[in-house]
Amino acid sequence: MGNRILVVDDEKEIRELLSRALTRLSHFRVELAEDGEEALRRIEQESFDLVLTDLKIPKKDGLQLVAEIAKSKPEVLTVLMTGHGTLDSALEAIKIGASDYLTKPLNMEETIVRLQRVLEERQRFARLKEIAAQLERANQELKRLDQMKSEFISVASHELRTPLATIKNVVQLILKGRTGEINEVQADFLSMAEKNIDRLTNILNNLLDLSRIEYGKIDIKSEELELRGIIEFILSSLKPQADEKSIKLDVEISKGLPPIYGDRGKIEQILTNLVGNAIKFTPEGGEVSVLSKPFHADGTMVAISVRDSGIGIPEDQQEKVFEKFYQVNGSLHRLTSGTGLGLAITKGLVEANDGTIWVESQVGKGSTFTFTLPVSKGEKRDLHFRHILDKAFQRAQGNFASLTLFLIEVLDEGSESKDALIGRLEKRLMECVYRKADMVVRREKDKILAVLCDTDVMGAQVIRERIEQEVRERFVEDLEAPPVIKVGAATYPEDALSKRELFRKAKAQLRG
Ligand code: ADP
Repeated sequence: MGNRILVVDDEKEIRELLSRALTRLSHFRVELAEDGEEALRRIEQESFDLVLTDLKIPKKDGLQLVAEIAKSKPEVLTVLMTGHGTLDSALEAIKIGASDYLTKPLNMEETIVRLQRVLEERQRFARLKEIAAQLERANQELKRLDQMKSEFISVASHELRTPLATIKNVVQLILKGRTGEINEVQADFLSMAEKNIDRLTNILNNLLDLSRIEYGKIDIKSEELELRGIIEFILSSLKPQADEKSIKLDVEISKGLPPIYGDRGKIEQILTNLVGNAIKFTPEGGEVSVLSKPFHADGTMVAISVRDSGIGIPEDQQEKVFEKFYQVNGSLHRLTSGTGLGLAITKGLVEANDGTIWVESQVGKGSTFTFTLPVSKGEKRDLHFRHILDKAFQRAQGNFASLTLFLIEVLDEGSESKDALIGRLEKRLMECVYRKADMVVRREKDKILAVLCDTDVMGAQVIRERIEQEVRERFVEDLEAPPVIKVGAATYPEDALSKRELFRKAKAQLRG
């Protein structure tokens, strides 16, 4: 079906000439109007694809008509016909929404080509808009699914861990004979059940860890640590596994290695994963060693390597082993059981401790996984806060979403101790944010509380008012000597495009 065009011109001959030519030469369906008001009435009541109007028409001129159509029926295209010497009006028409203009006297063939081009462009634009809308819908759906998946994993693992712990207790009680004597076969079966309970618990813990890492909700408590003790502790706890395969465990720590700054539990977990893998993927009689030495020339980092003489990883898969659920192709790799989550978690934990991790490997010769950790400078640094801000910022950038950082500072603590006051304030602030991804974090260094919300400037204003009201009405009021509390905020991408800028702007408001 041809496009429907309304020709508006007060000269009867021109209307008829256009009607004949447009219908005959290009299958347009043409309707006619004599003046601006009639044209508007018809556009209101019927549907047209394009209005071709003369500049000088009675009751409303062509420019007014173009402007009104652009306002009330933006889907209808307009093309203005002008006489010689009226280029200004033609350009004005384009500015207010016309798709093109034609100069009289009209050349019919050119007129048709120009009208067709305008209509085609509209179709192309409509198609592009539809594709963009489809992509946006798909993107929103993926985000929703991703969020659902993470929430599901986190809830499911939480809910499953408690009953599993109960089952394990019961199995152990029966195994120990507390419920009456059991025979050897029963003991064997129960031991098998216990091993599988442990495996399942392990998988659930991994899933929980991963969802915490992905949501930046992992808790890092950094302190000054000596690596030697930690490495030796992990090796001794994995020795039984190594002994089973007659694998020799070795440790080499360079003299005078400075203490590092990190979370003991997390570093133990990193080493357990890496040494555990090294033992798992090394055949009987092989060797696994842990080496540690300064890394940067400026002495700011320490490198810890776990080296094995095992089966190795093909070069094209060395990057991929850090992805979640990834397991190397190949019969030797598949022979060992695993979930492919260990290295994804390990990488998340290393990064949460401000380090990096990589692997060097040769198939058949062995692999060396190396990670770095910052050297302790004796002062408290907020790795936890930095890590959480990093993750939230990355997530906002990746999702093209907004992120608002609020900083809340107690300037004068009044009659209460600052730590107690901040502790109470932290709890109150948690009541001010409702979304699952929103977070309240404490910056230990300068005792500032930070609230991170996935919200834009407008949402931030609402949350800011909520925070200020909470502080004013429920917090300060019932204290004898009320503390002075300030709130600063900045939003990505509206106020700041980088993480550093976001923090700087929010902090500047505290001072202002
Ligand atoms: P899994 O639970 O499968 O061990 P990981 O994330 O710890 O999961 O490791 C992912 C994959 O990387 C493993 O399945 C294995 O194929 C490979 N891999 C990890 N460590 C080593 C190693 N030391 N030597 C050879 N391959 C390894």
